[in-house]
Amino acid sequence: MTATHVPGLPVIEDGQLISTNPATGAEAGRVPVADEKAVNAAVERAREAAAWWQGLGFDGRKTRMLRWRSLIVQRIEELAALTHSETGKPLTDGLIEATAAVEHLDWAARNAKRVLGPRRVRTRLLVAEHSGHLEYQPFGVVGVIGPWNYPIVTPVGPISGALAAGNAIVFKPSEYTPVVGQWLADTFAEVVPEHPVLQVVHGFGDVGGALCRSGVGKVAFTGSTATAKKVMAACAENLVPVVLEAGGKDALIVDDDADVNLAAEAAVWGAMTNAGQTCIGIERVYAVEPVYDRFVEAVVAKAGKLRTGEEIGPITMPKQLDIIRDHIEDALAKGGRAVLGGADAVRAPYVAPTVLVDVPADSSEIREETFGPTLTITRVRDADEAVEKANDTAYGLGGSVFGKRNAIRIARRLRSGMVAVNGTLTFVGMGNLPFGGVGESGFGRIHGADGLREFARAKAITVRRGPSLLPAMTFERTPAQVKQIVKALRLLYGRKP
Ligand code: NDP
Repeated sequence: MTATHVPGLPVIEDGQLISTNPATGAEAGRVPVADEKAVNAAVERAREAAAWWQGLGFDGRKTRMLRWRSLIVQRIEELAALTHSETGKPLTDGLIEATAAVEHLDWAARNAKRVLGPRRVRTRLLVAEHSGHLEYQPFGVVGVIGPWNYPIVTPVGPISGALAAGNAIVFKPSEYTPVVGQWLADTFAEVVPEHPVLQVVHGFGDVGGALCRSGVGKVAFTGSTATAKKVMAACAENLVPVVLEAGGKDALIVDDDADVNLAAEAAVWGAMTNAGQTCIGIERVYAVEPVYDRFVEAVVAKAGKLRTGEEIGPITMPKQLDIIRDHIEDALAKGGRAVLGGADAVRAPYVAPTVLVDVPADSSEIREETFGPTLTITRVRDADEAVEKANDTAYGLGGSVFGKRNAIRIARRLRSGMVAVNGTLTFVGMGNLPFGGVGESGFGRIHGADGLREFARAKAITVRRGPSLLPAMTFERTPAQVKQIVKALRLLYGRKP
């Protein structure tokens, strides 16, 4: 287990997928590779497991999910170390990521009964003799496909919602982080040994494609927008519903009454944490004229203190280095200026923090997901211009606003699924808030009550409770009864509000 490979490049040898440390090339671990047959067999096993898991009811599932939560907490250092060895991210980042995952697991387990439990609904005029009942039924088996950048929290979000709703899971982790994925399934099996309720299948994109076509009831995908479209196309073949958590180009707005120092601190964290490899990472800042200079100065001072190889880990996917370099070069060629880092910031496998100003709106640094520790800061006249520019993107995942008087109003106007006011990325820390995007960032929600409903089908049941006084939905009704119904309709709904 000590072989050295090309840093960060997963390889398959003798049917085993080997993942490596992107900084050193040291082997992080190896797992067996699945093929289409193995994926289908896993889904078959999951079907039986799902029936048992659903039969446990909300309380039985909650107990087991909370046991898994506690086990993760007890072994959190081990999980953070594995994450470090596969992605290169600092151990402390791994610990915080695992903490967020625990939050989502705990919330989903504790709240599923309240959100999804069966309930009676009030009867209505046309069917007054019937009672209404609403239930949320699980899909059976849910396929979860995950990325490498947050290999703990990105899959644990949908896995928590889907498990709590009563589904079994077949999970395909990224080829860059299979060992973390395996760890999640193995620890779950320690607390739920009876049936394979959470299985993992490993491999490259073809294994994810096979999962989409395997007959699962729903697919929860997290990854790039390009792959999200392939996943949706594969799922469309059998009308399998999808929730798609894709990329972003999140903006931060600094208004004139913002705490500039706090905004700079948050911008640097939001842009540079995990070396910028964060779907909800801040990639663009729009700062209004009166605070612009102070803000740029504070960002450069704070980002300049970050140590490459310490707080800033390696770029996990080697091919991303070329994209980051291209974006920086394109920005500079089009008239942008580097006030920190710049043209020579990319030194594989690291990228030094880079802050760019005066970057034209048509450059790739502004338009495409860079996924590196770079940040553009653009001077704007006022908050209206900031909102217009922030929304001028095909993506719409998260965002951030710093300010006092108008901050929440500005937050509402951002075209995105989440916004942090006077913070960055904070919404991911709340298990009771939904998470997801608009536009090219995908659709559907994980986390919170909406994230639970995403993994269940609403089922409506009506039950006849007595004889029909005013039968409407039968050929046996008389014209006089219809008159009575219309009279009741006028009484109930005819008056002007
Ligand atoms: P990718 O889209 O490359 O891969 C995501 C997953 O899909 C991987 O497991 C991958 O497998 C698999 N896959 C690849 N091709 C197919 C296919 N044809 N059918 C089914 N599955 C397939 O994304 P990355 O792993 O590079 O992750 C980075 C991206 O994820 C960024 O764009 C980032 O913004 C986004 N992201 C979004 C988040 C959100 O919540 N909105 C959160 C975190 C990241 P393999 O790796 O083996 O190719």
